[in-house]
Amino acid sequence: MKIVVCIKQVPETTNVKIDEKTKNIDRRGLGGVINSYDLHALETALEIKRNVGGEVITLTMGPDDFAVSLRETLALGADSSVLLSDRAFAGADTLATGYVLGKAIKKIGDVDLVILGQQSVDADTGQVGPIMAELLQVPQVTYANEVTAQDNKLVIKRNLDNVAQEITAQLPLLLTVTDTINQPKYTNVVEITKSFAKPITTWHASDLQLDSERVGQAGSPTIVRSISSPEKTAKVGHKLADDPMEAAKELVTALKKQNMLAEED
Ligand SMILES: Cc1cc2nc3c(=O)[nH]c(=O)nc-3n(C[C@H](O)[C@H](O)[C@H](O)COP(=O)(O)OP(=O)(O)OC[C@H]3O[C@@H](n4cnc5c(N)ncnc54)[C@H](O)[C@@H]3O)c2cc1C
Repeated sequence: MKIVVCIKQVPETTNVKIDEKTKNIDRRGLGGVINSYDLHALETALEIKRNVGGEVITLTMGPDDFAVSLRETLALGADSSVLLSDRAFAGADTLATGYVLGKAIKKIGDVDLVILGQQSVDADTGQVGPIMAELLQVPQVTYANEVTAQDNKLVIKRNLDNVAQEITAQLPLLLTVTDTINQPKYTNVVEITKSFAKPITTWHASDLQLDSERVGQAGSPTIVRSISSPEKTAKVGHKLADDPMEAAKELVTALKKQNMLAEED
């Protein structure tokens, strides 16, 4: 089975700055890690490969330094990777991202299964998978939390609040997975060393037969008008005195005031 896993690199920190002009994340100087849901997507693909055989290719769209995350996927067991990197892709919203990733999947060719995380942990929309399925004209199953491969089909379980579903789906198929589907494995020094012999191919816009109106900023109808941090609603704490006796007295008084400690007679 030929499986493509879409990997997004996300900032390693929650302390992100937003570019005031473009309203995009200012990624300069931010370390990157693989979007946690995508590690579950990769483990799903590797489990299927272990059970029925096949090939696992990881795919990302982003700047050149996203290759570090792809190398990590190779160390975790993927066979090869594709990096989609071009200045023309900058500022892509979910529609333009799905379009370029979909074109790359067509170029890879004969893909049986595309697996994504249910959402990214930075932009959080969960839209890229469904958009790609629509553009690729393949059936999709989202929020999978159990997958079994059988011949030319997958048996998939989903838990949707009060509803549990079991779906049998024919390949080709696009799947998005939750973080309860499996426990991603760790890699080791031997696999990390081996990963350097595995290929990472870079494709630019000119390699993908793209409609230039559908990529990057030009192909992104989403407009972020403003971004703000939620107001802190938690009450401001009170710092007790440095002296332990004083601090204890203050604490007792405060607890009594809140009726959390009985007044002594
Ligand atoms: C605060 C903020 C503001 C933004 N503002 C803008 C803006 O003004 N204009 C704009 O054009 N864009 C903007 N973006 C970026 C953009 O909308 C998304 O980052 C991008 O389109 C992917 O969407 P998502 O992260 O919601 O993916 P989701 O749909 O949540 O991701 C689901 C899955 O899709 C896959 N996936 C997602 N992205 C990629 C990728 N690049 N490569 C490979 N696989 C991928 C992964 O498997 C992931 O688990 C903004 C992002 C943020 C956080």
